[in-house]
Amino acid sequence: MKSLEEYIQAASRNGHPPRPGIILAIRMCLVALKGLEISDPDKRKRSLVVITETDRCLPDAIQLVTGCRLANRTLKLRDMGKMAATFADLASERAIRVAARESANEKSGLEFPGIDRLEALARAYHFYSDEDPCHAEWVKVRIQPQDLPGSHFQRVICEQCGEGIGFHREVRMGGRTVCRACAGERYYEPL
Ligand SMILES: [Zn+2]
Repeated sequence: MKSLEEYIQAASRNGHPPRPGIILAIRMCLVALKGLEISDPDKRKRSLVVITETDRCLPDAIQLVTGCRLANRTLKLRDMGKMAATFADLASERAIRVAARESANEKSGLEFPGIDRLEALARAYHFYSDEDPCHAEWVKVRIQPQDLPGSHFQRVICEQCGEGIGFHREVRMGGRTVCRACAGERYYEPL
Protein backbone atom coordinates (compact mmCIF):
# COMPACT_ATOMS: atom_id res chain seq x y z
CA MET A 1 0.00 0.00 0.00
CA LYS A 2 1.23 3.47 -0.86
CA SER A 3 1.31 6.49 1.46
CA LEU A 4 -1.34 9.22 1.43
CA GLU A 5 1.10 11.49 -0.42
CA GLU A 6 1.72 8.86 -3.09
CA TYR A 7 -2.00 8.34 -3.66
CA ILE A 8 -2.54 12.11 -3.86
CA GLN A 9 0.26 12.23 -6.40
CA ALA A 10 -1.30 9.37 -8.34
CA ALA A 11 -4.66 11.19 -8.39
CA SER A 12 -3.09 14.44 -9.66
CA ARG A 13 -3.85 15.44 -13.23
CA ASN A 14 -1.49 17.54 -15.37
CA GLY A 15 0.31 18.79 -12.28
CA HIS A 16 -2.93 19.83 -10.58
CA PRO A 17 -3.59 18.35 -7.15
CA PRO A 18 -6.83 16.36 -6.87
CA ARG A 19 -10.06 17.92 -5.65
CA PRO A 20 -10.58 17.99 -1.85
CA GLY A 21 -13.23 15.28 -2.20
CA ILE A 22 -10.67 12.90 -3.69
CA ILE A 23 -8.22 13.57 -0.86
CA LEU A 24 -10.96 12.93 1.69
CA ALA A 25 -11.98 9.76 -0.13
CA ILE A 26 -8.38 8.49 -0.18
CA ARG A 27 -8.16 9.16 3.57
CA MET A 28 -11.38 7.19 4.10
CA CYS A 29 -9.98 4.22 2.19
CA LEU A 30 -6.76 4.30 4.22
CA VAL A 31 -8.72 4.43 7.49
CA ALA A 32 -10.76 1.39 6.40
CA LEU A 33 -7.73 -0.63 5.30
CA LYS A 34 -5.92 0.21 8.52
CA GLY A 35 -8.94 -0.96 10.53
CA LEU A 36 -9.12 -4.19 8.57
CA GLU A 37 -5.33 -4.62 8.83
CA ILE A 38 -5.02 -4.93 5.06
CA SER A 39 -1.66 -3.68 3.85
CA ASP A 40 -1.73 -5.11 0.34
CA PRO A 41 -5.19 -4.38 -1.11
CA ASP A 42 -4.00 -5.05 -4.68
CA LYS A 43 -3.22 -8.65 -3.77
CA ARG A 44 -6.57 -9.44 -2.20
CA LYS A 45 -7.84 -11.30 -5.26
CA ARG A 46 -11.44 -10.24 -4.91
CA SER A 47 -11.73 -10.96 -1.20
CA LEU A 48 -12.36 -7.28 -0.48
CA VAL A 49 -15.75 -5.89 -1.49
CA VAL A 50 -16.53 -2.20 -1.10
CA ILE A 51 -20.03 -0.75 -1.11
CA THR A 52 -19.97 2.96 -1.84
CA GLU A 53 -22.92 5.11 -0.80
CA THR A 54 -22.31 7.77 -3.42
CA ASP A 55 -20.87 8.19 -6.89
CA ARG A 56 -18.46 11.02 -7.82
CA CYS A 57 -15.15 11.15 -5.86
CA LEU A 58 -15.48 8.16 -3.60
CA PRO A 59 -15.58 5.33 -6.19
CA ASP A 60 -12.59 6.84 -8.00
CA ALA A 61 -10.54 6.83 -4.80
CA ILE A 62 -11.70 3.32 -3.87
CA GLN A 63 -10.55 2.04 -7.24
CA LEU A 64 -7.22 3.85 -6.90
CA VAL A 65 -6.44 2.65 -3.37
CA THR A 66 -8.07 -0.78 -3.19
CA GLY A 67 -8.19 -1.83 -6.84
CA CYS A 68 -11.86 -2.73 -6.34
CA ARG A 69 -13.90 -2.15 -9.49
CA LEU A 70 -17.49 -2.45 -10.62
CA ALA A 71 -16.36 -4.69 -13.47
CA ASN A 72 -15.03 -7.46 -11.24
CA ARG A 73 -17.92 -7.02 -8.81
CA THR A 74 -15.75 -5.94 -5.89
CA LEU A 75 -17.16 -2.39 -5.97
CA LYS A 76 -20.87 -1.78 -5.53
CA LEU A 77 -22.93 1.38 -5.58
CA ARG A 78 -25.76 1.64 -3.09
CA ASP A 79 -26.66 5.27 -3.64
CA MET A 80 -27.62 6.84 -0.32
CA GLY A 81 -26.29 10.25 -1.29
CA LYS A 82 -23.72 9.96 1.52
CA MET A 83 -19.97 10.29 1.51
CA ALA A 84 -19.60 6.86 3.08
CA ALA A 85 -18.58 3.35 2.18
CA THR A 86 -18.46 -0.08 3.76
CA PHE A 87 -15.35 -2.20 3.25
CA ALA A 88 -16.10 -5.90 3.66
CA ASP A 89 -13.19 -8.30 4.06
CA LEU A 90 -14.55 -11.67 2.94
CA ALA A 91 -11.44 -13.45 4.25
CA SER A 92 -11.76 -12.31 7.87
CA GLU A 93 -15.54 -11.78 7.66
CA ARG A 94 -15.21 -8.32 9.09
CA ALA A 95 -16.63 -5.10 7.69
CA ILE A 96 -15.96 -1.48 8.51
CA ARG A 97 -18.07 1.48 7.45
CA VAL A 98 -16.34 4.83 7.06
CA ALA A 99 -18.33 8.06 6.77
CA ALA A 100 -17.17 11.63 6.25
CA ARG A 101 -17.74 14.08 9.08
CA GLU A 102 -19.52 17.30 8.18
CA SER A 103 -17.53 19.05 10.93
CA ALA A 104 -14.25 18.80 8.98
CA ASN A 105 -15.84 20.84 6.25
CA GLU A 106 -16.86 23.62 8.65
CA LYS A 107 -13.63 23.52 10.65
CA SER A 108 -11.38 23.95 7.63
CA GLY A 109 -12.55 27.54 7.04
CA LEU A 110 -11.68 28.43 10.63
CA GLU A 111 -8.32 26.69 10.74
CA PHE A 112 -7.04 27.94 7.41
CA PRO A 113 -8.50 31.45 7.21
CA GLY A 114 -7.68 33.78 4.37
CA ILE A 115 -7.17 31.13 1.73
CA ASP A 116 -9.44 29.78 -0.94
CA ARG A 117 -12.20 27.55 0.45
CA LEU A 118 -11.28 24.55 -1.71
CA GLU A 119 -7.62 24.93 -0.84
CA ALA A 120 -8.52 25.13 2.87
CA LEU A 121 -10.56 21.96 2.53
CA ALA A 122 -7.79 20.16 0.66
CA ARG A 123 -5.32 21.06 3.41
CA ALA A 124 -7.75 20.00 6.12
CA TYR A 125 -8.37 16.62 4.52
CA HIS A 126 -4.66 16.18 3.93
CA PHE A 127 -3.31 17.12 7.33
CA TYR A 128 -6.05 16.35 9.85
CA SER A 129 -5.59 13.24 11.96
CA ASP A 130 -7.59 10.16 10.96
CA GLU A 131 -10.44 10.93 13.37
CA ASP A 132 -11.13 14.46 12.11
CA PRO A 133 -12.29 14.02 8.52
CA CYS A 134 -14.19 10.76 8.98
CA HIS A 135 -15.37 8.22 11.48
CA ALA A 136 -15.37 4.44 11.25
CA GLU A 137 -17.52 1.75 12.82
CA TRP A 138 -17.57 -2.02 12.65
CA VAL A 139 -20.67 -3.29 10.91
CA LYS A 140 -22.22 -6.53 9.76
CA VAL A 141 -23.03 -6.63 6.08
CA ARG A 142 -24.61 -9.53 4.26
CA ILE A 143 -23.58 -9.83 0.65
CA GLN A 144 -25.93 -12.10 -1.25
CA PRO A 145 -24.32 -15.10 -3.01
CA GLN A 146 -25.35 -13.67 -6.40
CA ASP A 147 -23.51 -10.44 -5.58
CA LEU A 148 -20.19 -12.03 -4.68
CA PRO A 149 -17.25 -11.66 -7.04
CA GLY A 150 -16.86 -14.71 -9.25
CA SER A 151 -20.39 -16.00 -8.69
CA HIS A 152 -22.15 -17.57 -11.65
CA PHE A 153 -25.88 -17.78 -12.03
CA GLN A 154 -27.61 -19.08 -15.09
CA ARG A 155 -29.21 -16.34 -17.15
CA VAL A 156 -32.96 -16.48 -17.50
CA ILE A 157 -35.10 -14.85 -20.15
CA CYS A 158 -37.76 -12.29 -19.27
CA GLU A 159 -41.12 -13.64 -20.39
CA GLN A 160 -42.29 -10.11 -21.13
CA CYS A 161 -39.49 -8.40 -23.09
CA GLY A 162 -37.29 -11.36 -24.00
CA GLU A 163 -34.09 -9.84 -22.63
CA GLY A 164 -31.64 -11.99 -20.68
CA ILE A 165 -31.30 -11.44 -16.94
CA GLY A 166 -28.22 -12.41 -14.95
CA PHE A 167 -27.33 -12.84 -11.31
CA HIS A 168 -30.78 -13.73 -10.07
CA ARG A 169 -32.25 -10.29 -10.73
CA GLU A 170 -35.48 -11.69 -12.16
CA VAL A 171 -38.77 -11.49 -10.27
CA ARG A 172 -41.91 -13.58 -10.32
CA MET A 173 -45.03 -11.64 -11.24
CA GLY A 174 -48.43 -13.05 -12.03
CA GLY A 175 -46.99 -16.53 -12.40
CA ARG A 176 -44.38 -15.38 -14.91
CA THR A 177 -40.64 -14.72 -14.64
CA VAL A 178 -39.94 -11.15 -15.69
CA CYS A 179 -37.13 -8.62 -15.47
CA ARG A 180 -37.25 -5.78 -12.98
CA ALA A 181 -38.04 -3.28 -15.71
CA CYS A 182 -41.10 -5.22 -16.79
CA ALA A 183 -42.06 -5.62 -13.13
CA GLY A 184 -42.39 -1.84 -12.88
CA GLU A 185 -38.88 -0.74 -11.88
CA ARG A 186 -38.08 0.71 -15.30
CA TYR A 187 -35.98 3.87 -15.05
CA TYR A 188 -36.60 4.86 -18.69
CA GLU A 189 -39.61 5.20 -20.95
CA PRO A 190 -39.41 3.79 -24.46
CA LEU A 191 -40.18 6.47 -27.07
ZN1 LIG B 1 -38.49 -7.67 -19.27
